[in-house]
Amino acid sequence: MSKIIQYLCGMSNGYILKCKEGYIAIDCGSEYDISIFKNVLSENNINPEEIKLIIVTHGHCDHFVNADEMKKLTGAPLLCHKEAVLSLTTPLYPDVHARNEVGYKLLNEMTPDGEPCPILPPVTPDIVIGNEDYDLSDYGIDAKIIYTPGHSLGCISIITGEREAFVGDILQEKVPGCGSPPGVAYFTYTDDLEEANKLTFASCDRLLKEADIFYSGHSGPFIRQEIQKCIDDAKEEAKTFKL
Ligand SMILES: [Zn+2]
Repeated sequence: MSKIIQYLCGMSNGYILKCKEGYIAIDCGSEYDISIFKNVLSENNINPEEIKLIIVTHGHCDHFVNADEMKKLTGAPLLCHKEAVLSLTTPLYPDVHARNEVGYKLLNEMTPDGEPCPILPPVTPDIVIGNEDYDLSDYGIDAKIIYTPGHSLGCISIITGEREAFVGDILQEKVPGCGSPPGVAYFTYTDDLEEANKLTFASCDRLLKEADIFYSGHSGPFIRQEIQKCIDDAKEEAKTFKL
């Protein structure tokens, strides 16, 4: 098993992975407070300069809010998918649509989205990747990034040689804040449900092929059997759910 540090920053998980000569940080939390990340580093005897790369799994603000501060602290380059760049640089509240019943209920409780947010710190990525697999061996780690769209068009997942997946929000706790079993993302990028489900389930199926343990942006980690079940359940739900 890879050395994995999982920590909570606000409502989102961040991760630190050991690589040959340092570490890779995955996601940047939802609470704008760099001291959370600093504390995790010091508790684990990691110097900020040992962070060699910061990866943002997708362009939703609950995953990149500390990205600029983390870049300044560590000097590490920031990587994201090309479809996430606008959200990070503008920066934007997530523009999300319901993909299922949970998402529909949540959206009715939320404020309007897709708007620039004056309190979010913008950040410019240094490495922008496309839809092809991206090998991380240059960073001294047996891992790759794969494109897993559906929750947003800019979603990527990190897969290690030990079949561990860091999936952002495409697989997440079924109901937020409850420590519930996993579910397939309740939000997506479009109100075209057919399109949203096609992309989402294709990404889920690829993740199941590539990994056995799943580290999510919210809650987890989840094991293969739980994920298989939640994907099967989500496909069933998609047959009848209508907006
Ligand atoms: Zn998200």
